[in-house]
Amino acid sequence: MMYSTSKSFRKETSITNTKCSEISHFSHPKHKLRFEYSEFPFKCDGCKEVGIGLRYKCSSICDYDLHMHCAIPSPSLYHPFYPKCSFQFLSKPPGNIPRYCNACEKGVTGFVYHCMTCGFDLHPCCAKLPMVLDDGEIKLYLYRKVSSPCHRCGQKGRSWSYRSSCKKCNLHVACVREIQRL
Ligand SMILES: [Zn+2]
Ligand SMILES: [Zn+2]
Ligand SMILES: [Zn+2]
Ligand SMILES: [Zn+2]
Ligand SMILES: [Zn+2]
Repeated sequence: MMYSTSKSFRKETSITNTKCSEISHFSHPKHKLRFEYSEFPFKCDGCKEVGIGLRYKCSSICDYDLHMHCAIPSPSLYHPFYPKCSFQFLSKPPGNIPRYCNACEKGVTGFVYHCMTCGFDLHPCCAKLPMVLDDGEIKLYLYRKVSSPCHRCGQKGRSWSYRSSCKKCNLHVACVREIQRL
C-alpha cells in the first residue's frame, strides 16, 4: 500500500526515518545516501525511471538519487501476478537485447527484478506497486490485464492497469505515474 494515500505516506516516512535515514549503497560507494521526501520528480540512478516522493539522495554534492525500492531491494521477490516466478534483483538487465518491464512496458536499462526461468522483468518500483490506490474518493485496483482501453492514452496495450471498482476507469500503470507527476 505504499504511495497510496497521503496518510500512509506520512506513516511510512516516520517509520523509515527513524530506522535508516542514511544508508550506504553499492551503486554509490563514495558517499552515504540520505532518506528524504521530494515534491519534484527525479530520475532514479538505479532503475533509470522517474520517481517522486520518497527517495535516497547522495548526502554529499552528487546529483544521485534512488527510489526507496531501488535503495533497499529484496534479493529475491515473488509477485502475486506471476506465482510461478522467482524474481532476482540485478543491478543491470541480463544479456544484450533490449528488455521491457512486464508491468509498465517501458524499457529496462538499470536495476531490475528478473525471472531467470521465463525471462520476465520488473522495474523495482513496478514490482512493489500497491495493489490498491486510494485517493480518498476513488479506489483503483491493480490488474495484470484489462480488456478496455486506458482512460488517459486510449490504448489497450499489455501493461498492467489500475481499474476502478465501477470498472469505468482503466489506467495503465505508466499513465497513472504521469498523472501523479502533474
Ligand atoms: Zn529506481
Ligand atoms: Zn555522492
Ligand atoms: Zn518466471
Ligand atoms: Zn516498469
Ligand atoms: Zn494509458
